[in-house]
Amino acid sequence: MKRIVIIGGVAGGMSAATRLRRLDESSEIVVVEKSGFVSYANCGLPYYIGGVISKEQDLLLQTPESLNRRFNLDVRVNSEVTAIDPVAKSVSVRNTLSGEIYSLAYDKLVLSPGATPVVPPIEGVDRAMTLRTVEDTKKIFAAVEAKPTTAAVIGGGFIGVEMAENLVHRGIKTSIIEATPQLLAPLDPEMALLVANEMSNHGVDVRLGVSASKIQPGSITLSDGNEIPAELVILAIGVRPDVSLAKSAGLEIGSRGGIVVDENNLTSNPDIYALGDAAEKKDALDESATLVPLANIANRHGRVIADHINGRTIRPVKTIGTAIVKVFDLAVASTGWNEKRLKAANIEHSAIHTHPGSHAGYYPGAETLALKLLINPKTGEIYGAQGVGKDGVDKRIDVISTAIRAGITAPELADLELAYAPPFGSAKDPVNILGYVAENIVSGLVKTAQWHEIDDFRNEEFTLLDVRTPGECAKGMITGFINIPVDEIRNRFSEIKTKKVLVTCQVGQRAHTATLLLKNLGFEPVNLDGGYHLWSNSPASKQLEKAGR
Ligand SMILES: Cc1cc2nc3c(=O)[nH]c(=O)nc-3n(C[C@H](O)[C@H](O)[C@H](O)COP(=O)(O)OP(=O)(O)OC[C@H]3O[C@@H](n4cnc5c(N)ncnc54)[C@H](O)[C@@H]3O)c2cc1C
Repeated sequence: MKRIVIIGGVAGGMSAATRLRRLDESSEIVVVEKSGFVSYANCGLPYYIGGVISKEQDLLLQTPESLNRRFNLDVRVNSEVTAIDPVAKSVSVRNTLSGEIYSLAYDKLVLSPGATPVVPPIEGVDRAMTLRTVEDTKKIFAAVEAKPTTAAVIGGGFIGVEMAENLVHRGIKTSIIEATPQLLAPLDPEMALLVANEMSNHGVDVRLGVSASKIQPGSITLSDGNEIPAELVILAIGVRPDVSLAKSAGLEIGSRGGIVVDENNLTSNPDIYALGDAAEKKDALDESATLVPLANIANRHGRVIADHINGRTIRPVKTIGTAIVKVFDLAVASTGWNEKRLKAANIEHSAIHTHPGSHAGYYPGAETLALKLLINPKTGEIYGAQGVGKDGVDKRIDVISTAIRAGITAPELADLELAYAPPFGSAKDPVNILGYVAENIVSGLVKTAQWHEIDDFRNEEFTLLDVRTPGECAKGMITGFINIPVDEIRNRFSEIKTKKVLVTCQVGQRAHTATLLLKNLGFEPVNLDGGYHLWSNSPASKQLEKAGR
């Protein structure tokens, strides 16, 4: 009888184990799990700490006994694999409760040990708690139950913002400290600003561009010299693949620090597979090695491994890294590449920002979405998208991630027939609108400029034109723009003294109408993408505010 040993019994490991059993009744399947729990909902852990999920039991999806009953799995918790002998094809297992060590032979080995939180060498870091396992959760939960009045979360990634929100839920005055200038690295800065604002509006003290340099009892000293109160400290600055076992077994480790696997998730050893946070993935856009520590791809690759072991045909799964997070009242999602990454890779691209309603404006409850689409301006290939808003973000980002996977171009988003009735969407869904805008760009019908490029247009060749109403302009205008409302352009275009015009309105829609009108009148217009709304909520405008301009 073939024995398959799986190291790690949560997302990737348990997906592989259950699929293996469904495909084959005869093999022996042993799951070795270091912690006391298997198949737990690690994505739900912050919400248990916050009291949103009230019963610990709800996080524990399975037990060794239930997995044995349903799938005839031999699940060994409190059991750590301490070494792999790839020649003898065996692993050493240590029972973490009794200390007993034994050897376990395998025919096939599956590595899904996950990732470990990064712990920087700062003074007092042992006072900080990290969140990865049920045991970590219990520790943090107990600390929260002790009713601290202040807390700080170091790290503004997904887990950091979720933890900050949940600590606020527990009535704790919370700060979040992020060393880079923005929260949530998968977003571009103008989108991330919306997240920082949301957190500030809910009372979180957001400290960007500073790091924690010392953690002392009750407070943290920051790199800018400030000290903030923090009776409780959570460290969430990221994770790195747990490759300790793989390394000592001589498996190939890649440029991104994860275990190298092929399209069947086989490592450099023909009898050892790896998946999940510990393994590198292939980026769907440029085929480069990448790390995507997310649950979906871990589960998917678990199935790939089980299928491969059972000789089934494999459809290789590359990753586009689609993610979503709740930040108080906002949903924040992204898929594919962001603009920072496109710029760093020197890839020509166009950005499209839109601010549509989540559903028809005349039906109660519509919320404004901020959407960003990144495309190849020549071919229309979709590189990525981001969305921030109270409602309907998940649907739009999921449709776009599906489009990326299917090779649908940005203009073709206009062709998608998406479910519509007023409570749910619009006849022209926000995804369709992104397609319309993309088609205008790719076909060369319009030219657009970005919020951070306005200074490039401040010269004698260009008139800067705001086509909103005088009432709107009275509430705020970008310096240097003149105002001619869109409805008056036909009568007043002689006031525009240059051929070239940078046009703006509130979100770019009226400016689009004005742009085509001016084009038809012989001008060379450029539409400021996202309009005044985007600019006034962007880092460019915030910098001017800071400088008192
Ligand atoms: C707090 C939190 C919230 C998250 N939220 C989301 C989310 O909302 N959406 C999302 O997509 N992803 C989320 N993730 C990430 C997601 O949980 C991971 O990407 C996914 O669980 C990875 O699966 P994995 O099998 O690689 O590792 P894991 O699920 O982490 O499982 C690895 C297991 O291996 C065990 N192990 C490690 N070494 C050994 C050893 N030597 N011997 C035996 N056992 C060992 C560990 O104890 C662990 O239980 C979250 C993660 C955390 C921690």
